[in-house]
Amino acid sequence: MASIGVLALQGDFHEHLAVLRRIGAAPHEVRLPHQLAAVDRLIIPGGESTTIGRLLSRYQMLEPLRARAGHDLAVWGTCAGAILLAREVLDMKAGGQPTIGVMDITVRRNAYGSQLESFETPLAIPTLGPEPLAGVFIRAPEIVSVGRQVEVLARLPGGAVVAARQGRLLVTTFHPELTDDDRLHRYFLEL
Ligand code: GLN
Repeated sequence: MASIGVLALQGDFHEHLAVLRRIGAAPHEVRLPHQLAAVDRLIIPGGESTTIGRLLSRYQMLEPLRARAGHDLAVWGTCAGAILLAREVLDMKAGGQPTIGVMDITVRRNAYGSQLESFETPLAIPTLGPEPLAGVFIRAPEIVSVGRQVEVLARLPGGAVVAARQGRLLVTTFHPELTDDDRLHRYFLEL
């Protein structure tokens, strides 16, 4: 089995599917457990982490995701997807929100103040080569701490972590699927 899925419950999954098709992968839309069982890589898109988490819970997807993520399932969470993967979430929705909670990072939701709610900035990501990547941030979370097994891949000039990897788990708090730079998608296909 070598097949890639994009979680297609809510958020900008169409953009991820488009990038994957452009680079020659044949991605599957994943909404239900039997579709998840058929893939060994999964992208969780940006969107609204509270909504995606609620739908994951309703469709019985949390348990299989927790069991497989990082093991026989490589998972990349972008923005809301990063929130869903984090072991700890600060500024959760009141009353809590369901998450997958498998990666050893702490994130703070909507971490950039109102003026900076959305912004774009070049990011140095040495793993991908010398050329900076355009970081598009939309009501992004911040990764405020990472565990010992987590490799930091990129930071903002101020030091905030915006991309990190723990084995076969990858998180980015920005949206490479909204640019025409497909290096992170290619990187994930190799993970
Ligand atoms: N602010 C959103 C959340 O908390 C994430 C935003 C995004 O994915 N672009 O889920």
